[in-house]
Amino acid sequence: MNKKNKLLREQYEKTLDKFNTTNKMSPFNLIDSEHINNLNNKLKNDNIQYDSEPVSCCSHCKSLYLITDDDDNDTCVSCHNSINEIETHKNIYEYLKLYGDDK
Ligand SMILES: [Zn+2]
Repeated sequence: MNKKNKLLREQYEKTLDKFNTTNKMSPFNLIDSEHINNLNNKLKNDNIQYDSEPVSCCSHCKSLYLITDDDDNDTCVSCHNSINEIETHKNIYEYLKLYGDDK
């Protein structure tokens, strides 16, 4: 694992945990298993942006896990916010400074 992208990786790992927990607590899968697989692959392939690069998050729940559809629209998987309601921060450090690491 590259040390440089450790922080962002940690955030993705937390999101994955949260998704798995959400599904475990619910009678049916609230989070599509496709997203869980996506996140698993992201972590496995280690192709996550470097911590020094800009990060985007949902402007509502601040989740870093966003999906982009074929028309280039970003949507938050965690809270299903309206399309393209995201904010971008200079890097993961700035993000963590603002929102902490429990999103
Ligand atoms: Zn959200």
